[in-house]
Amino acid sequence: MTEGSPPLEILRWAVAEHPRITFATGFGAEGCVVIDLIGRNKLPIDIFTLDTGELFPETLELWKRLESRYGITIRAVHPVVEIASIDRLWESDPDRCCDLRKVQPLRNELAGFSAWITAIRRDQTPERANAQIVETDTKFGLAKINPLVTWTHDDVWAHLYANDVPTNALHERGYPSIGCAPCTSPVVPGENLRAGRWRGSAKRECGLHIKEDSK
Ligand code: SF4
Repeated sequence: MTEGSPPLEILRWAVAEHPRITFATGFGAEGCVVIDLIGRNKLPIDIFTLDTGELFPETLELWKRLESRYGITIRAVHPVVEIASIDRLWESDPDRCCDLRKVQPLRNELAGFSAWITAIRRDQTPERANAQIVETDTKFGLAKINPLVTWTHDDVWAHLYANDVPTNALHERGYPSIGCAPCTSPVVPGENLRAGRWRGSAKRECGLHIKEDSK
């Protein structure tokens, strides 16, 4: 795959190369683009989401709308341990909270696949700036395919509007990037699009896309 390859071409190539392939979505705008490409083109790609138990009601509603629109099932993957008893862990130890709700469940889930697809873009965070279309994910031990890695924010929204793709209602209310409810706030004009994630802390990522050697 070359830098200029369209995302659909990348996805078709990935399916041919990796019969055991999955897409992990958090229902962000970029994820909705990938779901649209998979759904409209009936690509044989498994899709799941990390249902942390702390998602916004609007995100749960979008989940159902996407399944209905494309006639697909987006599987729920839950935390591996019962953490409901650990009160407000996102305040006391957000890295551990993300590890229990996201990183460990993702690791367990990906063990059944030879490749996973993500919807990351290079300009989202410094940690994503060097992401490639096709990578070896040494953290989780499989291939990693990033079909939107060269796209801009405007490319994403042009695709969503052109194809009338369902998106999260919170985008209209100042939330360009949406994660768990306790850790996501709206942004004001001029702020970085991910400034509302873990606001007030240095944390920028859940840990899903941070390479082992950059920790
Ligand atoms: S985003 Fe917040 S609530 Fe969600 S897993 Fe991470 S720390 Fe916990």
